[in-house]
Amino acid sequence: MFVTSESHEGGSDVGGTSVEQALEAALTGRPLSNSDGYALMAAPPYALHEMCAVARRLRLRCKGSTVTYSRKVFIPLTTLCRDSCGYCTFVKSPGDVGARTLNPDEVLDIARAGEKAGCKEALFSLGERPELRHELARAHLRSLGYTTMLEYLREMCALVLRETTLVPHVNPGTLTSAEIFALRPVSPSMGMMLENVSTRLTEPGGAHYGCPDKDPNLRLNTLRMAGELCVPFTTGILIGIGETRAERVDSLLALRRIHSDYGHIQEVIVQNFRAKEGTRMEGCYEPDVDEMIRTLAVARLLLGGEMNIQTPPNLTPLEYGRYLTAGINDWGGISPVTPDHINPEAAWPKIRELKVVSASEGYTLRERLSVYPRYLRDPEHWLETSFRESLPSRVDNHGLVGEPEMVI
Ligand code: SF4
Repeated sequence: MFVTSESHEGGSDVGGTSVEQALEAALTGRPLSNSDGYALMAAPPYALHEMCAVARRLRLRCKGSTVTYSRKVFIPLTTLCRDSCGYCTFVKSPGDVGARTLNPDEVLDIARAGEKAGCKEALFSLGERPELRHELARAHLRSLGYTTMLEYLREMCALVLRETTLVPHVNPGTLTSAEIFALRPVSPSMGMMLENVSTRLTEPGGAHYGCPDKDPNLRLNTLRMAGELCVPFTTGILIGIGETRAERVDSLLALRRIHSDYGHIQEVIVQNFRAKEGTRMEGCYEPDVDEMIRTLAVARLLLGGEMNIQTPPNLTPLEYGRYLTAGINDWGGISPVTPDHINPEAAWPKIRELKVVSASEGYTLRERLSVYPRYLRDPEHWLETSFRESLPSRVDNHGLVGEPEMVI
């Protein structure tokens, strides 16, 4: 039985901080404490309005009225994985229809279709180290001439870079320092969701039971190593997978700590769990829009106005515009070509619709690259030599894509 976030309200350590005090502190720029975060996350529903207003003020100071997205194609390099998360429909077991690894021609076909549709980003998503668990993954790799999926990933990124104008952004999960170092020349930014710091989720009955790569310490280490190697990195939390609200605060603060050491976390995603048929968690509670707004506002208040905070619009198709009221400033990757292979039931909105919804809340939609503007402004520090001229030359003086959009 999964524990839902409903059964663990707020933090145990609210510790005397009131919501009002926490909001005042946020406005003065003082970094909020754990106690502030727990108080905000446990705030009564009537306080949400004020929390969102302060979150929007922080956002406005640093981001103005722009909300961004990245036009991408989604390349599902392999659907095999050594983990088996309780909510995942992307992963396939050997023998399942759809258990496969794309060959180089298929990778290139997807990338070229994206290039034709004006995409800039090639998002490589894949299961974690499948060859350590599945003979089928080893067989796929042998037939392609590789030993590990990460070696193959590197070569496929190099292929896309050579043959198209797309810029790879890889999402291969936990990585060692040497692996990040090897991927950096072919993928100027990388991503991995932290999801949550709670080790309870890896226990029997938890969302991450049987998932060696979902050990929070391993994931935090990957984030730190990416920081040491100066890789602009996307991460985030997944809410509604059995964590408590307090554990969401702990997770956001863990990200803030790492970012304050290295400055490389370019974006924090707050993603809502969706219960999918055929998964271990198909009967579990899904966070509603108010729960998402609460968490997004707390994320903005804890992380400050400078952080880019993203939530995927396709996971709340009818009401995603409301998330702008909680201080987010990015919609993530949107593809005019490929489905969201992680959430195949949830179609991405048309970019034209995203523009209209953003405008209805007072925001201007702009396209960005997979590397955020701040990192493009200091290429010597953040980018490999091969990207130092090519990426900044593709953006305007705000670090955003300057050419007229092909709105779909
Ligand atoms: S969510 Fe990622 S790590 Fe978990 S089973 Fe799916 S592909 Fe593997």
